[in-house]
Formats: sequence, C-alpha cells, structure tokens
Amino acid sequence: MAASQLLRDLLHQLDGSSYKAYRQIKGEHCFAGLTLRIHHVQADPFALPSRASLWVDRGMANLPETWLRGQRRIAMADFLNRQVSRRVIELQQRRRVDGSGSGKRGALSMLCPSQVILPRTSVQIHEHAIEVRFGVGLPAFGRRIAGRAAAALLCDDIPQLAAESLRVEALSADRVEGHLAAYEDAIALRQQLADHNLVGFVANGAILPRRSGVEDTPLDNAVPFQSPKRLEVQLETPHQGSVTGMGIPVGITLIVGGGYHGKSTLLRALSVGVYNHIPGDGREQVVCDLTAVKVRAEEGRSVCGVNISPFIGALPQDISTERFSTTNASGSTSQATNIIEALEAGAKVLLVDEDTAATNFMIRDRMMQALISKDKEPITPFVDKVRQLYTDHGVSTLLVMGGSGDYFGVADTVIALENYKPTDVTEQAHALARTANPRQVEGGQEFGPLTQRQVRLPRFDGGRRDGRRGGSPKVKVYDVDCLEIDRQPIDLRAVEQLAEVGQVRAIAEALILSQRRGLDQQALGDWLAEIDRQIDANGLDDLSELNRGDLTRFRRQDLAAVISRLRTLKRE
Ligand code: ADP
Ligand code: MG
Repeated sequence: MAASQLLRDLLHQLDGSSYKAYRQIKGEHCFAGLTLRIHHVQADPFALPSRASLWVDRGMANLPETWLRGQRRIAMADFLNRQVSRRVIELQQRRRVDGSGSGKRGALSMLCPSQVILPRTSVQIHEHAIEVRFGVGLPAFGRRIAGRAAAALLCDDIPQLAAESLRVEALSADRVEGHLAAYEDAIALRQQLADHNLVGFVANGAILPRRSGVEDTPLDNAVPFQSPKRLEVQLETPHQGSVTGMGIPVGITLIVGGGYHGKSTLLRALSVGVYNHIPGDGREQVVCDLTAVKVRAEEGRSVCGVNISPFIGALPQDISTERFSTTNASGSTSQATNIIEALEAGAKVLLVDEDTAATNFMIRDRMMQALISKDKEPITPFVDKVRQLYTDHGVSTLLVMGGSGDYFGVADTVIALENYKPTDVTEQAHALARTANPRQVEGGQEFGPLTQRQVRLPRFDGGRRDGRRGGSPKVKVYDVDCLEIDRQPIDLRAVEQLAEVGQVRAIAEALILSQRRGLDQQALGDWLAEIDRQIDANGLDDLSELNRGDLTRFRRQDLAAVISRLRTLKRE
C-alpha cells in the first residue's frame, strides 16, 4: 500500500516516460481517511479510460445511521452519486477553462443518474467505507506520461472532490432527507395499490409533462394533475401523510380525449411509475405496478418462436403462429409478439398508446367485419382479447384510444382528458356502447394458451468468423436505445421503459453471464427469475468481474425485452 506522497512522487518521476509505464500505479494508494484503488490502467491514451475507485472511511464521511437504514441505503447511495457526478462535471469544466493547451490533459468520468433512484455500481455504501467508482483518462503528451497533471488529478482533485461531496458537512440535511422521503413514499404508495384494487396512482398536483422530447425534467408552467372525484383515493405515506390522487383500477381502463390534450403524457408518466423519482421531478407520487410493460407495434423486429395464436391465426402460406418466428415482423404481428413476451416476463399490467399501436391489431369495426369476413382475417383484434386477458390471466390494460369508440363496451373505466384535466366519463361511454349497433365479437371465449418458451443465446465470442473459440464478447452501448454485442446491433427503441444507459450495460453483462453459466438452458421465465435472484443476493457486481462503475439495476421485463430482440436468438 503506498501513501499519497509516494503516488505523487512516483507520478512526478514518470513524467515524460512512455505511457505504458503508467502500469506502475495500479494498486492501492492511501490518503488521510481515503483509499484510491487503480484497478485497470489503460494501455495508451486513446484506449478506454482506466478504472479506479475511491474508498472514503465511513468514520470520515460520518453520515448519520438513520440515513442508511434498510432500503434507504439505495436512495442514499443515489444521492451521493448525484453529488459526486455533479462535482466531476464541474471539475471537468473548470479544467477545460484553465486549459493547459498541450497534450491530453486527462479526464474523469462517472455514471450520471437519470431522474430515477436505482441501485448502481457507481456509488456503494459498505460496512466501513463509501465506494465511488469512476473512469480516469490518464493525462499524456502525445504518447508520453504527463506525470504532473496526473498527480494533480489523482492526488489533489480526486481527494478534494470526495471531501466536498461525501462528508456529512458537505451535504444539506434537508435535501438528503427529502430524497430519502421521496423514495420511501413512492415505495409506500406502490405497496398500497393492490389493497385498493389499483394498478396505478397519480397524485393530485403531480407534474406530468416534460420540458421537451429530449429532456426529462418537468415542463415549466404545466397544469398540475387533478383527479376526477369518482376516481379519487387517499393513500398513506410515511413522510407526506395522506396523499390524494387518481387511482387506476384493475381491469381495463381507457383514456380518451381530443388530440394534444395530454393522453400520451399521462400514460408515459404511469409507465415510468415503475421507478421512484427524485424530488423535483414532478412524478414523485406517480406510481404503477412494478411489472407494468408499455407495449407497442415494432415493424421489422425479429421474433423467435413466440406463440401469438391468441391474436393471430393461420397466416398466408400456412405460417405457424404457435411458434412464430420472423426476421421482419409486421406492425400487427410485432405488437402481438410484444404483448405475449411481456406476459412471459411476468407483466400484470399492459400500457398501450394508440400513437404507437398498429390499427389493424387494435380494432376491426362493424363495417370492416361486413366487408372482410372473419375467415379472411387472421387477426383477432385486441378489443376482443383485452377482457379475456383480465378474466383468464388477471392482466390489466391501460389504453389510450382517442380515435375509436369500439373499446367503450369492454372498458371498466373511461377517463377523458380535456386541456390536461381528466374527467370520469365511464357512464356516458357505457351508455353509448349499449345503444350503438354492436360489432361481432371474434376470436372465441378464451384468451388462449400462454406457452413457456425456451430460447438459446448465441455464443458471445467477439464475433469471430474463423470458427476458433475463445474470443471475448464485444459490447458497445451507444445509448438507452441501441446496444451492440459482437457487432450485432440490437434495436431498443421500442423498449421504452429503460430509464438510463447503465441499465443497458448491465443487461448486456447479464446476457453474457447467462450464456457463460448456461442459464438459457431453462425456460425463459425461470432464467429471468434466476438473474433477479442472483442480483438480489450478490448485487450488480455479480454481473461482471471488472469492478465496473457504470451499471444500473434493470427490471426483468426489460432484460426479457432485450433477449427477445437478439437476432441471433435460437428456439429450442
Ligand atoms: P395527446 O396524446 O392527447 O395527443 P400529449 O400527451 O402528446 O397529447 O400532449 C400534448 C402536448 O401537451 C405535449 O407537448 C405535452 O408536453 C403537453 N402537455 C401534456 N400535459 C400537460 C400539462 N398537464 N400541462 C401542460 N402541458 C401539457
Ligand atoms: Mg398521444
């Protein structure tokens, strides 16, 4: 173990040496109350950043025990993560302004959390220390070591950063407590859903719209949410007392209303209600059943052996729909697939928006039934299946549908939005459904079979074409909506509930681990459960041996969605 002065001296000595000599700093370096560990040293200035972690003694941080009790520890680590990563960004900006001008000055990088509170590998609170993981691009002049800059970064900036962001004196107690409270309250709200026969809850006063399509912060001057009286429920929270808002009942709920009146915004807020939001987000008290999956049409996706026969009968050319596979699904077959796969992954709530649904999957009206007889239409529309999904399988659906009244008859609850304000129009909608000329119900009495699928992963070996074994997997994560493994892109744009890129990285690691441990030799449902169990028992670090600081906890539903979109997936 080297003391900080030794590291500084070593880096000064290395100044001007070949970049490879940085290898000597690998290992542990002690500062007062801090330990810096360099886990991996990059081979050259252009390689992926070196990986390091900083361990701050719990005694030095001196965080009150009440901030760390039970599940609070996750929210506390999340809070500290935000503190440190904000400092990292500020430091980077300051260094850019100071600018030495020559050479590669080195850079710190760290996972920046999204609007939701989740377990991550970037900051972890252990028994005796708080661990912060980050990447360091070690500074260079050309291909030579910039030792003085490295010493300033590792021996001055990083310890200072830790002191400024992790010690109790540096934290605003009010803000910490607000963060922990928001987390615990959201969990409490979600826990009460089942007791009240609800699948979702939107508190009065919640701010649902976002600043823009690419910014996840709340819109200024938005109209706060206000529940219709009949749907109002009161739930209890440990920190905010009783909270009143709109309960979304189990069963089938329809959201209707004119274009641009806030329907999709409400549905989207509920779809991220599977997560707990940070204070100030506006959706802190919007919660949804944890298993809810937003499903949509996804033309062009690949499908591997999914039983979509509940929705789609024999296709042209006698293509089977009991084990439906394709490299290029249509709008309707992709949406049917997405629903069946969500059920396979344990979804008890489906969220569907007409904006992203296939029309011929959603509806088949009276006139169309008269013109095209059922024996010429393989699709049984969702409107004829949505109730069976609830009665046969206990799966609720929340549906945005402003363009057709065909769902009035099957909906338990109908909510109309007007100028972002919801009203309960269930009675009127039901009255209309009773008097209207009914369409034929199609597709039989039952939803149909849900089959357990077994799928096999390809061997992840870096995409070697020479047939030799032993290559290591190549993973590239571009953003929340694109992942590449072994040069195979996986399009995740339709996996809308991924909250941050760390989840995609963690899912990629889970895929590689699954393949290595042979978890894909069992039914997919059991495989997903096994991954959950392993992460719950051993933490996210179980997914990778590399002390990675860039992984975020994901839901099994989203892992399943990524697995199902691998074009190299094989059906047993
Ligand atoms: P719809 O799905 O009914 O067509 P959207 O949900 O897409 O409507 O919303 C239309 C626009 O209104 C969006 O730009 C959205 O950000 C904005 N919006 C939604 N809800 C509110 C609100 N409560 N206050 C202010 N603007 C809102
Ligand atoms: Mg819309």
